[in-house]
Amino acid sequence: MQPTTQTAIFRQEIDALPADDGHEIIDNFDADASLDTNILISMYCAYKSNYKEISADGLISVIKKHKGNLFTWSKSVKEVDGKQKHTYTVLFAGSDYFATKVFKLDEEKGTLARNYAENLIIFLNERDNETVSGNSTHQSITDMLREESSVHITGDYAAVITNWKRFVTSEFGYRIHPITKNRKFHAGIDIGVPIGTPIYAMADGTVLYVKKSTTGYGYHLVISHGGKMTTLYAHCSELLVSGGQAVKKGDVVAKVGSTGLSTGPHLHLEVMVGGMLQNPRRYLP
Ligand SMILES: [Zn+2]
Repeated sequence: MQPTTQTAIFRQEIDALPADDGHEIIDNFDADASLDTNILISMYCAYKSNYKEISADGLISVIKKHKGNLFTWSKSVKEVDGKQKHTYTVLFAGSDYFATKVFKLDEEKGTLARNYAENLIIFLNERDNETVSGNSTHQSITDMLREESSVHITGDYAAVITNWKRFVTSEFGYRIHPITKNRKFHAGIDIGVPIGTPIYAMADGTVLYVKKSTTGYGYHLVISHGGKMTTLYAHCSELLVSGGQAVKKGDVVAKVGSTGLSTGPHLHLEVMVGGMLQNPRRYLP
Protein backbone atom coordinates (compact mmCIF):
# COMPACT_ATOMS: atom_id res chain seq x y z
CA MET A 1 0.00 0.00 0.00
CA GLN A 2 1.23 3.49 -0.84
CA PRO A 3 2.01 5.68 2.14
CA THR A 4 -0.25 8.74 2.04
CA THR A 5 1.39 11.23 4.35
CA GLN A 6 4.84 12.81 4.40
CA THR A 7 5.36 11.20 7.82
CA ALA A 8 4.70 7.74 6.37
CA ILE A 9 6.94 8.31 3.35
CA PHE A 10 9.74 9.61 5.57
CA ARG A 11 9.50 6.64 7.96
CA GLN A 12 9.50 4.20 5.07
CA GLU A 13 12.59 5.81 3.58
CA ILE A 14 14.50 5.88 6.90
CA ASP A 15 13.51 2.25 7.65
CA ALA A 16 14.83 1.15 4.29
CA LEU A 17 18.35 2.44 5.00
CA PRO A 18 20.99 -0.19 5.85
CA ALA A 19 21.49 -0.54 9.59
CA ASP A 20 25.19 0.43 9.43
CA ASP A 21 24.58 3.61 7.44
CA GLY A 22 24.97 5.85 10.51
CA HIS A 23 22.42 8.25 9.09
CA GLU A 24 21.77 11.55 10.75
CA ILE A 25 18.54 13.52 11.10
CA ILE A 26 18.91 17.26 11.59
CA ASP A 27 15.60 18.51 12.89
CA ASN A 28 14.71 22.14 12.20
CA PHE A 29 10.99 21.54 12.48
CA ASP A 30 10.34 23.35 15.77
CA ALA A 31 12.35 26.46 14.96
CA ASP A 32 10.76 26.80 11.51
CA ALA A 33 7.26 26.11 12.81
CA SER A 34 7.42 28.79 15.49
CA LEU A 35 8.47 31.33 12.86
CA ASP A 36 5.55 30.36 10.66
CA THR A 37 2.70 30.34 13.18
CA ASN A 38 1.49 33.82 12.31
CA ILE A 39 1.43 33.16 8.60
CA LEU A 40 -0.55 29.96 9.16
CA ILE A 41 -3.18 31.77 11.23
CA SER A 42 -3.30 34.54 8.61
CA MET A 43 -3.73 32.10 5.73
CA TYR A 44 -6.58 30.43 7.54
CA CYS A 45 -8.25 33.85 7.96
CA ALA A 46 -7.67 34.75 4.29
CA TYR A 47 -9.19 31.41 3.26
CA LYS A 48 -12.41 32.02 5.17
CA SER A 49 -14.61 34.40 3.22
CA ASN A 50 -16.68 35.32 6.27
CA TYR A 51 -15.05 36.29 9.55
CA LYS A 52 -17.88 34.58 11.44
CA GLU A 53 -16.52 31.24 10.20
CA ILE A 54 -13.12 31.87 11.79
CA SER A 55 -12.49 30.01 15.02
CA ALA A 56 -9.51 28.62 16.88
CA ASP A 57 -11.21 25.20 16.99
CA GLY A 58 -11.71 25.34 13.24
CA LEU A 59 -8.04 26.06 12.64
CA ILE A 60 -6.93 23.35 15.09
CA SER A 61 -9.08 20.73 13.39
CA VAL A 62 -7.65 21.67 9.97
CA ILE A 63 -4.11 21.35 11.34
CA LYS A 64 -4.89 17.97 12.97
CA LYS A 65 -6.28 16.65 9.71
CA HIS A 66 -3.08 17.51 7.87
CA LYS A 67 -0.43 17.06 10.55
CA GLY A 68 1.15 14.12 8.71
CA ASN A 69 2.17 16.49 5.91
CA LEU A 70 3.61 19.42 7.78
CA PHE A 71 7.23 18.75 7.01
CA THR A 72 9.54 18.13 4.13
CA TRP A 73 13.14 17.12 4.18
CA SER A 74 16.24 17.46 2.12
CA LYS A 75 18.84 14.75 2.04
CA SER A 76 22.48 14.43 1.18
CA VAL A 77 24.58 11.33 0.74
CA LYS A 78 28.24 11.29 1.69
CA GLU A 79 30.86 8.57 1.48
CA VAL A 80 32.36 7.96 4.95
CA ASP A 81 34.93 5.14 5.35
CA GLY A 82 33.65 3.45 2.22
CA LYS A 83 30.05 3.55 3.48
CA GLN A 84 27.21 5.77 2.34
CA LYS A 85 26.03 8.08 5.07
CA HIS A 86 22.62 9.71 4.62
CA THR A 87 21.87 13.05 6.26
CA TYR A 88 18.26 14.20 6.41
CA THR A 89 17.39 17.79 7.26
CA VAL A 90 13.80 18.11 8.43
CA LEU A 91 12.01 21.36 7.64
CA PHE A 92 8.59 22.70 8.50
CA ALA A 93 6.48 22.84 5.34
CA GLY A 94 3.29 24.09 6.93
CA SER A 95 2.88 27.45 5.25
CA ASP A 96 3.61 26.19 1.72
CA TYR A 97 1.55 23.08 2.21
CA PHE A 98 -1.46 24.95 3.59
CA ALA A 99 -1.23 27.73 1.00
CA THR A 100 -1.19 25.40 -2.01
CA LYS A 101 -2.86 22.15 -0.92
CA VAL A 102 -5.33 23.05 1.81
CA PHE A 103 -6.36 26.68 1.47
CA LYS A 104 -5.52 26.89 -2.26
CA LEU A 105 -4.85 30.61 -1.94
CA ASP A 106 -4.52 32.57 -5.16
CA GLU A 107 -1.86 35.24 -5.44
CA GLU A 108 -4.10 38.00 -4.10
CA LYS A 109 -5.14 36.04 -1.03
CA GLY A 110 -1.58 34.85 -0.47
CA THR A 111 -0.41 38.46 -0.39
CA LEU A 112 -3.30 39.37 1.89
CA ALA A 113 -2.27 36.59 4.26
CA ARG A 114 1.35 37.73 4.34
CA ASN A 115 0.19 41.29 5.09
CA TYR A 116 -2.08 40.02 7.85
CA ALA A 117 0.83 38.10 9.33
CA GLU A 118 3.13 41.13 9.28
CA ASN A 119 0.45 43.28 10.88
CA LEU A 120 -0.25 40.65 13.51
CA ILE A 121 3.44 40.57 14.35
CA ILE A 122 3.55 44.36 14.55
CA PHE A 123 0.45 44.41 16.74
CA LEU A 124 1.91 41.87 19.15
CA ASN A 125 5.21 43.71 19.20
CA GLU A 126 3.58 47.10 19.87
CA ARG A 127 1.59 45.56 22.69
CA ASP A 128 4.78 44.13 24.18
CA ASN A 129 6.56 47.48 23.76
CA GLU A 130 3.78 49.40 25.40
CA THR A 131 3.78 47.20 28.46
CA VAL A 132 7.52 47.78 28.76
CA SER A 133 7.93 51.48 28.00
CA GLY A 134 4.43 52.85 28.57
CA ASN A 135 4.48 54.83 25.34
CA SER A 136 5.06 54.23 21.71
CA THR A 137 6.35 56.46 18.94
CA HIS A 138 4.23 54.49 16.49
CA GLN A 139 1.10 55.10 18.50
CA SER A 140 1.78 58.83 18.77
CA ILE A 141 2.40 59.13 15.01
CA THR A 142 -0.89 57.32 14.42
CA ASP A 143 -2.64 59.68 16.85
CA MET A 144 -1.18 62.77 15.17
CA LEU A 145 -2.58 61.66 11.80
CA ARG A 146 -5.99 60.65 13.11
CA GLU A 147 -7.82 63.49 11.30
CA GLU A 148 -6.07 62.89 7.99
CA SER A 149 -7.78 61.21 5.05
CA SER A 150 -6.48 57.70 4.50
CA VAL A 151 -6.30 57.89 0.73
CA HIS A 152 -2.69 57.02 0.13
CA ILE A 153 -1.45 57.69 -3.37
CA THR A 154 1.59 55.64 -4.19
CA GLY A 155 4.19 57.28 -6.30
CA ASP A 156 7.82 56.90 -6.99
CA TYR A 157 10.17 57.43 -4.12
CA ALA A 158 13.69 58.71 -3.65
CA ALA A 159 16.54 56.54 -2.35
CA VAL A 160 17.04 57.87 1.18
CA ILE A 161 20.75 57.04 0.99
CA THR A 162 22.74 56.86 -2.24
CA ASN A 163 23.24 53.18 -3.22
CA TRP A 164 21.30 52.11 -0.08
CA LYS A 165 20.94 48.48 -1.26
CA ARG A 166 24.65 47.86 -0.80
CA PHE A 167 24.62 48.96 2.83
CA VAL A 168 21.59 47.27 4.43
CA THR A 169 22.80 45.77 7.71
CA SER A 170 19.48 44.72 9.20
CA GLU A 171 16.17 43.92 7.55
CA PHE A 172 12.62 44.76 8.54
CA GLY A 173 10.69 42.10 10.38
CA TYR A 174 10.40 39.52 13.00
CA ARG A 175 13.40 37.53 14.06
CA ILE A 176 13.93 34.68 16.40
CA HIS A 177 17.46 34.66 17.65
CA PRO A 178 18.93 31.34 16.46
CA ILE A 179 20.60 30.64 19.81
CA THR A 180 18.68 32.43 22.56
CA LYS A 181 15.32 31.98 20.75
CA ASN A 182 14.30 35.46 21.88
CA ARG A 183 11.63 37.12 19.76
CA LYS A 184 12.58 40.50 18.44
CA PHE A 185 10.91 42.76 15.95
CA HIS A 186 12.84 45.23 13.84
CA ALA A 187 10.48 48.04 12.83
CA GLY A 188 12.58 49.36 9.94
CA ILE A 189 15.71 48.70 7.96
CA ASP A 190 19.21 49.72 8.92
CA ILE A 191 21.56 51.21 6.36
CA GLY A 192 25.12 51.32 7.64
CA VAL A 193 26.97 54.31 6.17
CA PRO A 194 29.49 56.82 7.60
CA ILE A 195 28.58 59.70 9.91
CA GLY A 196 27.64 62.76 7.89
CA THR A 197 26.22 60.86 4.88
CA PRO A 198 23.25 62.89 3.57
CA ILE A 199 19.75 61.49 4.16
CA TYR A 200 17.19 62.36 1.47
CA ALA A 201 13.43 62.69 2.00
CA MET A 202 11.78 59.62 0.47
CA ALA A 203 8.85 61.66 -0.90
CA ASP A 204 7.27 65.12 -0.80
CA GLY A 205 5.70 65.98 2.52
CA THR A 206 5.65 68.02 5.70
CA VAL A 207 7.96 67.44 8.64
CA LEU A 208 5.67 66.07 11.36
CA TYR A 209 8.28 66.62 14.07
CA VAL A 210 11.98 66.53 14.82
CA LYS A 211 13.29 65.29 18.14
CA LYS A 212 16.74 65.32 19.73
CA SER A 213 16.44 62.28 21.92
CA THR A 214 19.42 60.87 23.81
CA THR A 215 17.95 57.36 24.00
CA GLY A 216 16.05 55.08 21.58
CA TYR A 217 15.85 56.71 18.15
CA GLY A 218 18.34 59.43 19.07
CA TYR A 219 18.12 62.52 16.84
CA HIS A 220 15.23 61.67 14.57
CA LEU A 221 12.54 63.16 12.38
CA VAL A 222 9.23 62.07 10.95
CA ILE A 223 7.89 63.27 7.59
CA SER A 224 4.19 63.02 6.78
CA HIS A 225 3.53 62.32 3.10
CA GLY A 226 -0.27 62.51 3.14
CA GLY A 227 -2.73 59.63 3.14
CA LYS A 228 -1.49 58.59 6.61
CA MET A 229 1.92 57.68 5.23
CA THR A 230 5.02 58.64 7.21
CA THR A 231 8.74 58.00 7.09
CA LEU A 232 10.98 58.09 10.17
CA TYR A 233 14.74 58.65 10.05
CA ALA A 234 16.63 57.75 13.23
CA HIS A 235 20.08 57.96 14.87
CA CYS A 236 21.02 61.11 12.91
CA SER A 237 24.04 63.30 13.72
CA GLU A 238 22.33 66.45 12.41
CA LEU A 239 18.71 67.39 11.75
CA LEU A 240 18.50 69.90 8.90
CA VAL A 241 14.76 70.65 8.91
CA SER A 242 12.24 71.71 11.53
CA GLY A 243 8.71 70.70 12.44
CA GLY A 244 6.02 71.93 10.03
CA GLN A 245 8.49 72.54 7.21
CA ALA A 246 7.50 71.43 3.70
CA VAL A 247 10.04 69.15 2.01
CA LYS A 248 10.43 67.82 -1.51
CA LYS A 249 11.37 64.31 -2.52
CA GLY A 250 15.17 64.10 -2.53
CA ASP A 251 15.78 67.08 -0.22
CA VAL A 252 18.57 66.53 2.29
CA VAL A 253 16.74 66.44 5.63
CA ALA A 254 19.40 65.09 8.00
CA LYS A 255 22.82 63.48 8.23
CA VAL A 256 23.65 59.96 9.32
CA GLY A 257 24.91 59.54 12.88
CA SER A 258 24.93 57.12 15.77
CA THR A 259 22.80 58.95 18.36
CA GLY A 260 20.45 57.14 20.74
CA LEU A 261 20.45 53.37 21.06
CA SER A 262 22.91 52.59 18.31
CA THR A 263 26.08 50.55 18.08
CA GLY A 264 27.53 52.31 15.05
CA PRO A 265 26.73 54.91 12.38
CA HIS A 266 23.60 53.97 10.44
CA LEU A 267 20.24 55.22 9.30
CA HIS A 268 17.28 53.36 10.78
CA LEU A 269 14.40 54.01 8.38
CA GLU A 270 10.77 53.24 9.10
CA VAL A 271 7.72 53.53 6.86
CA MET A 272 4.19 53.58 8.26
CA VAL A 273 0.94 53.63 6.30
CA GLY A 274 -2.40 53.95 8.09
CA GLY A 275 -0.85 53.13 11.47
CA MET A 276 0.88 49.99 10.21
CA LEU A 277 4.62 49.59 9.85
CA GLN A 278 5.66 48.57 6.36
CA ASN A 279 8.78 47.03 4.96
CA PRO A 280 10.71 50.06 3.61
CA ARG A 281 12.06 47.87 0.78
CA ARG A 282 8.60 47.96 -0.78
CA TYR A 283 9.00 51.69 -1.35
CA LEU A 284 12.67 52.35 -1.88
CA PRO A 285 13.80 52.46 -5.51
ZN1 LIG B 1 17.18 49.69 13.07
